[in-house]
Amino acid sequence: TVTLTLGALGACSAERSDDAGGDGSAAPGDTLIGIAMPTRSLERWNNDGAHLESLLQDEGFKTSLQYADNKVDQQITQIQNMINEGADVLVIASIDGTALGPVLQTAADAGIRILAYDRLINDTPNVDYYATFDNELVGTLQGQYIEEQLGLKDGATGPFNIEMFAGSPDDNNARFFFKGAFDVLKPYLDSGVLVSPSGKVPADLDGWTQIGIQGWESARAQSEMENRLNSFYQDKQVDVVLSPNDSLALGIAQALAGAGYTVGQDWPLLTGQDADVANVRNILAGQQSMTVWKDTRTLGDQVAKMVTQIVNGETVDVNDTTSYDNGVKVVPSFLLKPQVVTKDDVQSVLVDSGFLKASDVGL
Ligand code: BGC
Repeated sequence: TVTLTLGALGACSAERSDDAGGDGSAAPGDTLIGIAMPTRSLERWNNDGAHLESLLQDEGFKTSLQYADNKVDQQITQIQNMINEGADVLVIASIDGTALGPVLQTAADAGIRILAYDRLINDTPNVDYYATFDNELVGTLQGQYIEEQLGLKDGATGPFNIEMFAGSPDDNNARFFFKGAFDVLKPYLDSGVLVSPSGKVPADLDGWTQIGIQGWESARAQSEMENRLNSFYQDKQVDVVLSPNDSLALGIAQALAGAGYTVGQDWPLLTGQDADVANVRNILAGQQSMTVWKDTRTLGDQVAKMVTQIVNGETVDVNDTTSYDNGVKVVPSFLLKPQVVTKDDVQSVLVDSGFLKASDVGL
């Protein structure tokens, strides 16, 4: 673990009535932490927000937790309001990673410290820290799962029909997820062991946005998959679908079911991420093969710790100072490890750790 101090930034706090980032003399009860989350429509962000808020309140901080319905303007307004209310630290899971520059400049001018939560915020010097799961590893795990299940390393020649999806083009994480998977799968696409009848495979990594699903919406993923099945699979069968997360996997599974695919017969491999309840049910029912689980409680724990360190003017825990360049600077980061969960791990990993209740997923 590497630790860093940002002494120079701490100087800003001299202008403030309280002491965030200063010498630790402010009472926690005078310190306001703004938490900006993207949307309530996805299960994980509800859990993330509630968990982080309660940890920060346990530390004695005041909190303002806001959800922005995936609307960029709404998120900017909410952050502006937090600044006006005198926030000391902002924790932000951005919707559009490139749209917050001006409002974060206002925040920085007011001496507020900024921590990017889960998603990096780009093109601004005003991000002090970043905490997330290793996003590229999420994609690597999805790619390796496909590689193993199809026996590609053992010389299986296929050809296997694959359809690939990527996340929302405005989410900085989506590129990392795709990169991780693409690096594993590209050699097999090049050699013809994997083929994509729709042709919706970017020539190189930079083309990933062409297959990105705006807003991570299940419904958009469903209609895209329906279109591909209708247009390219009249006389073919899809063997594998790379889905970067669970919300897309849900829509893709609907499309597959609608097209008559049957579990135990011709249902394809289908990846995911997050371990949302609906998807874990699908995993148990055989309609999704795996999910990459990110225990968002550990992210909340880490962020609460970092916020407390910032407020107390202590050195802040980071473990990566090279991976996340936001276009202006490399943001000191704390990366947590994601893990693969399949049908066999639902009880032993998700339920036994208390992340999900057995009854939520019909066990
Ligand atoms: C998060 C994923 C989530 C996706 C959609 C990403 O930035 O890292 O966990 O599935 O956004 O909300």
